[in-house]
Amino acid sequence: MPSFEELGLSGPVLRAVNRAGYEEPTPVQAQAVPVGLEGKDIVGASQTGTGKTAAFALPIICNMKPSTKPQCLVLEPTRELAAQVEDQMNVFSYYKPLNVMLLHGGVGYGHQIEALENKPDIIIATPGRLLDHMEKGNLDLSNIKYLVLDEVDRMLDMGFLPDVKKIIDKCPPGRQTLFFSATMPGAIETLANWALKDPVEVEIGGRRSPAETVSHAFYPVGMDQRDDLLISLVDKTGYDSMMIFTRTKKEADSLLARLKDLEGTRPTALHSDIKQSDRTKALQGFRDGTFNIIVATDIAARGLDISGVTHVINYRVPENPEDYVHRIGRTGRAQQEGDAFTILTADELENAAAVEHYVEQKIERRKLEGFDYNYTALLDDKPAAPLRRRRPPGRRRR
Ligand code: AMP
Repeated sequence: MPSFEELGLSGPVLRAVNRAGYEEPTPVQAQAVPVGLEGKDIVGASQTGTGKTAAFALPIICNMKPSTKPQCLVLEPTRELAAQVEDQMNVFSYYKPLNVMLLHGGVGYGHQIEALENKPDIIIATPGRLLDHMEKGNLDLSNIKYLVLDEVDRMLDMGFLPDVKKIIDKCPPGRQTLFFSATMPGAIETLANWALKDPVEVEIGGRRSPAETVSHAFYPVGMDQRDDLLISLVDKTGYDSMMIFTRTKKEADSLLARLKDLEGTRPTALHSDIKQSDRTKALQGFRDGTFNIIVATDIAARGLDISGVTHVINYRVPENPEDYVHRIGRTGRAQQEGDAFTILTADELENAAAVEHYVEQKIERRKLEGFDYNYTALLDDKPAAPLRRRRPPGRRRR
């Protein structure tokens, strides 16, 4: 792997990378940084946790010079991702006089208007709130030189593409555009063709292969016992930190209530009906160990930089097989071990088959020992497999 210096980074950005403790570039950085430094457009696909943020942020910050109008705009699908990218932008621009600003919904306009008046160089935004400010005349994008569209497939899922198009339309044509999406359905390809000029393609790591360090299993059960099995699974599993994904906010709330009654758990929840300040507290508390379980809807599934998650449980089989891969990608980051359990009921067999097809492997069916199963045909002829041994205590996330 070449060094950061060999990739062409210099001066203050190189110092900031050292200060962040990065020793060598990740593969996506090795590919994208030199291309970014040359000012070329990039279309990239890279799994989360691969160092994608630095891959786009480092060359931009290296090439940026202070100005009186915003020069760099990064669009992110969720507030949490936007906040995470803002943190990293601050780290990488530590030795440069650049002003980084975060702009997302769910909070008041007052501070944001003040911050916009303060001449930010870099704006990290979610599309809806950015467009609001544009329509109110609070923001001028006429000097944007660097435009980053991150997690574009997620923006499509969340219905943001019309907003994203309006925003791109207001950015000058001479800009450099960096575009990241884990998948490229037709609508996204059309957007990329429109937004990018002769992009260089960067694709790292099989998008489809879940992290190799993760062991995954389906737990078949009758529909009436889904909740009980989940609670028993949590109770009987040795975990340091666990993410539980539900399909709906209601499911997340009701599981949170049951988990609160379970000994040894310190659960919290993350979904879009929870107010922004509580979402921030939930994430922060999960990161620092105050909470050892976070029950989340899809909003938390992609891109969030939460390291050291030992277990992921899917309360239902995800409808979208890509979500399965993204969710289980929360565990096993940075070569740590992780377990991903998915509860499977008879109505989800098609989704389960789609997941297995997508990851190109058969996922093991397991039975939870000691759980009082009601009969379901799903359990026929499935040998019981023991739970993985309890993990030794004291494993901490970074
Ligand atoms: P990302 O894929 O951008 O969400 O990054 C995932 C995590 O990897 C973040 O915590 C980064 O700070 C970290 N990271 C990114 N690049 C490197 C690197 N070259 N060396 C060590 N850690 C890195």
